Amino acid sequence: MERKCTIIVAVLLMTALPGLVLAQGSTMEELGSKAAKAAMDQLGVEKGDQNLLILTSAGYAIADGQTTQAAIKGLTEESGNSIGDGNLFQVLRPYWKPVWFFFFDKASGEAVYMEAESNATEKSLDELKALPADKVFSKISKANVDMDYLGNHTEEGNATFNRMAFNGNEFALVSISNVWARGGSFDFIQETCFHDHLCPGVTSGLFLAKYVEKRLPINNTTAESYKVIACPNWCKDDLLQIRWDATPGKSSMFVMALTNAEKKAVPNIAGIYIRWNDTSKSGDALALGFNFSAVELPSWNGPAWGSMIYQDIVLMEYADKPETFISTIKEFEVDAQTLAMLQNAGMHPLKVAGVM
Ligand SMILES: [Zn+2]
Repeated sequence: MERKCTIIVAVLLMTALPGLVLAQGSTMEELGSKAAKAAMDQLGVEKGDQNLLILTSAGYAIADGQTTQAAIKGLTEESGNSIGDGNLFQVLRPYWKPVWFFFFDKASGEAVYMEAESNATEKSLDELKALPADKVFSKISKANVDMDYLGNHTEEGNATFNRMAFNGNEFALVSISNVWARGGSFDFIQETCFHDHLCPGVTSGLFLAKYVEKRLPINNTTAESYKVIACPNWCKDDLLQIRWDATPGKSSMFVMALTNAEKKAVPNIAGIYIRWNDTSKSGDALALGFNFSAVELPSWNGPAWGSMIYQDIVLMEYADKPETFISTIKEFEVDAQTLAMLQNAGMHPLKVAGVM
C-alpha cells in the first residue's frame, strides 16, 4: 500500500513539476537574455566578443520568490559569455537584493548596468517578451569606467559614482572589471566576487596566501590543510576561505577582532597561519605582519573614490613578490592542545602565540 502511494505521488509530481519548472525557468531565462541583448546593442558588441565581461547577482538574488540562476542561461545564450570562458561571474549578494546585470566592454571601457523591476518575472513569458527593455528594467545606465580613462575624467567619474549609476554597486563593479581587463586570473576574480568587490584588502589576502604557500607548502594533500587565526580580520579572510577552503564552519578559520591598542602593540599583525597535519595532529605556524605602506605607490589623479581601485591595479605587479609587504613576526610549532588554545574564545590567540 505504501509503495503504491509513493508511485502515485511520484507520477503526480512528474506530471505537475516539469511544466512549472519550465515556465519559471523560461521567464527568468528571458530576463537574462533581454538584459544581454539590450546591453550588447548599447555597447555595440556581437555574440562571442572576447572583450565583453558580464557580472551579475543572478543565482544569489531571489526575485518574486523565484531563484534567479536561469537568467545566467539567458545571458550565456545571448552573449556567448560563460563561467567556462572566464568572462561571466556571479557576484555575491544577499538574496533579498535585486537581480542585476553588468556588462563591461574592455575595448572601449564602456559599461552598462541593468536592474530588473521588482515584479518583472511575475509576468507571463509572452508578456515579458513583448515588453521593451525599459519596462522590464528599473535602471539602465551606461558609463565609461576604464581606470585609464577615469584618470583624465574626474568629473565624469564622480558623476557616475555620486549619481549611483550602478545603484550603489559602482566600486564593486568598476574594481572587478578593471582588474579582469588587465589579466586578473580566474581564481582571483572568483574570490573577489565572493568578497563583493576588489579592494587592496583582498589583494593582501592573495599576497599572504602566496607567502604562506611558499614557506609552508602543502606536501600531503590528504592529511594537510591550512588553518587561519584571522586576528585581526579584514577583507583578506574572504579570499583565504575560497582559495584554501578554509571556512569557519569546518573549523579552518577563526575570526577575531583586535582593539586599536592591541593592533598598536603588535604593529602590522595580519593573523596566524597554520599548516596542520590531521594525521600526526601537529602543525607549523607563522604569525605574519602586513605593511601596507611598505611601498610608496604612484599617486592617482582621477576621482577620489577610484584611488583604491588604482592601487589594486598597481599592486598586481607585486603578486610574485609578497615579501615586499609581509614579514614573519614569529614561527612556531603547534600541537593539538596549542591549536585548541589558539581557537578558543576564552583565550587571546596573540598571547597564546607569544607575540603580544
Ligand atoms: Zn574589501
